Amino acid sequence: MARYTGAVCRLCRREGQKLYLKGDRCYTNKCSVGRREYAPGQHGVSRKKLSEYGLQLREKQKAKRYYGVLEKQFAHYFELASKRKGITGENLLAILESRFDNIVYRLGFTMSRAEARQLVRHGHFALNGKRVTVSSILVKPGDVITLREKGTGLDKFKNNLEANATKVIPKWLDFDAAKFEGKMLSFASREDIDLPLEEHLIVELYSK
Ligand code: SF4
Repeated sequence: MARYTGAVCRLCRREGQKLYLKGDRCYTNKCSVGRREYAPGQHGVSRKKLSEYGLQLREKQKAKRYYGVLEKQFAHYFELASKRKGITGENLLAILESRFDNIVYRLGFTMSRAEARQLVRHGHFALNGKRVTVSSILVKPGDVITLREKGTGLDKFKNNLEANATKVIPKWLDFDAAKFEGKMLSFASREDIDLPLEEHLIVELYSK
């Protein structure tokens, strides 16, 4: 499946809730969720009650969209999660949280995961001192994430960090604002992940 290039607000309307895909705009009254309480498309207004399978499918789509992950990659993460000790659904979320682009976003360098993905691709960040351009890299506890940007380019990140100053850095991450550096302390546990996902539905879907 190719990467979705349409209007991202349609994805939120499809899921019937905010997925926070556009950064700043998501926190303003310009957000489409709330203004148009129906799914996009010709039949969106007549949204039907979902079947059990429909609910499971929507939950998987929602998780994919939150993290900006494609189908094949998501299935790969599920496989990894099912091989780890513990609860598969929680393992899956911990793996998604450990993606490099997600951590850049969680540290407050960017306003959305999509922005994080783009800036990682442009080589603005380093992992353990090495420049990284692949946003899907899975970060491990002990790994250090650093902003490489110097000079005037730094202003954008300073502005983002300032705008995100009230955002709480998850306790599984550490951030040194003076050095523009973050460290992963541990994998995220379920209570650290603030997303309204019912991961057991995703597990049920893949267990069919
Ligand atoms: Fe979703 Fe943000 Fe668009 Fe609102 S503004 S519909 S939260 S992407």
